Amino acid sequence: MHIVFAASECTPWAKTGGLADVVGGLPKTLAALGHRVSVFLPYYRQVAKLKPDAPVVLPSVTIPFPYYNRFVRVLDGGLSNGVQTYFIDCPEFFDRESLYATPSGDYPDNAERFGLLSRAIIEASKILGVPDIFHVHDWQTAMLAVLLRSTYYFDPVLRHVPAVLTIHNAGYQGWFPPRTMETLLLPWDMFTFDKLEYHDTVNFLKGGIVYADAITTVSRKYAEEIQTPEFGHGLEATLSGRSRDLVGILNGVDYSEWDPAIDPHIAAHYSADKLAGKKECRRDLLHAFDLHGVSDETAVIGVVSRFATQKGIDFIVEIMDRLVEQDMVMVMLGNGEEYYERLLLETANRHPARLRVKAVFDSVMAHKIEAGADIFLMPSRYEPGGLNQIYSLKYGTVPVVRATGGLEDTIDEQPNGGGNGFKFWGYSPDALLDAVLRALSAFRNKQEWTAMMRRGMAQNFSWDAPAKEYVRVYERVIKNRT
Ligand code: ADP
Repeated sequence: MHIVFAASECTPWAKTGGLADVVGGLPKTLAALGHRVSVFLPYYRQVAKLKPDAPVVLPSVTIPFPYYNRFVRVLDGGLSNGVQTYFIDCPEFFDRESLYATPSGDYPDNAERFGLLSRAIIEASKILGVPDIFHVHDWQTAMLAVLLRSTYYFDPVLRHVPAVLTIHNAGYQGWFPPRTMETLLLPWDMFTFDKLEYHDTVNFLKGGIVYADAITTVSRKYAEEIQTPEFGHGLEATLSGRSRDLVGILNGVDYSEWDPAIDPHIAAHYSADKLAGKKECRRDLLHAFDLHGVSDETAVIGVVSRFATQKGIDFIVEIMDRLVEQDMVMVMLGNGEEYYERLLLETANRHPARLRVKAVFDSVMAHKIEAGADIFLMPSRYEPGGLNQIYSLKYGTVPVVRATGGLEDTIDEQPNGGGNGFKFWGYSPDALLDAVLRALSAFRNKQEWTAMMRRGMAQNFSWDAPAKEYVRVYERVIKNRT
């Protein structure tokens, strides 16, 4: 089967979060299963830096807008692990500092940028090879599913090609003003509440949910949660209306990137049988955060996170004054909303011996934290899949998480200490503190702790099983359309 991935992020090219890891990992496994996989991405400035000489495959593809056309090039990103990558080159839209936003807000032309991306992928596919299925991701490429069933409805080569939409986070939907219908040449009769309209905006994700042949999301729990008002972000009714076509498939992990036995970014290699290297990684991590004289008995708590309300950063700030009384140090890596960056840096200034914060995006440091910390903290309000807790398991870094979405599906706390981590249900700082205190208390019992680390390290969350589940979804929708 030929599968086209349409995405706005993919490791190692461009990344702001877990979406990039998924689009980097799943296609490789699908290719290993014998499928032909092409991945289309924007040729962002970051991508151009990594591959300045990408060969031109298509010198000019016409993308119509009202009264004018735009012209994009398609570049060859190369064939790697059986996956063919293409870049959509449109400098006026993608040659920018960031992917989606500056610190002062989203780029105002995001509807045009990602509308163009979706259309360009369809047009390029018509020339480079019509796939058996389009797999689109989040609001950024959801419009592709809409275009297929509207503007491209009568296209004889695309008519029977289905689209699968994966929702990596329902909190980001791509809301744009009504005039976007005209900018993207969409028929006005689709601007209704059962289609694209949402409180007088054009909602890209909603369009994808309505028009995709199947919808997947990144854990079973989140597939249930998004059909409720608490997690649906206003799309719960649209989602439950499609519950027969909605399936949760837990994200896999690319262990060629995230395995302490081979990770090139960490100070020493280690595995469940040979844990010694983890001590070296811990020393290296403390050094990187300028923390000196930390005893082996002191627990090192790590956080790697986008700084966004979703991630429960405010809970961490709230418990900090009480947590500093414990025998622990916390190292945090993250970036995002300025408000949280400032709040955390202020808190770190008050407790310099206990809390260190790096407010940057630094992939190497993310690996060092996974390897060097003892405990990994994820107090998310909601978490569709969550990858960091799964990486943490592999690195023997015991997760403390809020029981939501993929965190609920992957972390298991047992009353007798027999699980792989610690979790809390209540949505409050006290519930978080309680769980951290349980973890700190377990950390003092070295034998129990090492056994828990090893249980996590032995678990396998590779892409093999999830990729097969995706294939089953693809096969089902292809069959339904023919
Ligand atoms: P989300 O997609 O909601 O951000 P996930 O846990 O699914 O959350 O994935 C986050 C991914 O982004 C992980 O690979 C994590 O290591 C990475 N990441 C997040 N923040 C940073 C940062 N500041 N520097 C480096 N990597 C980061």
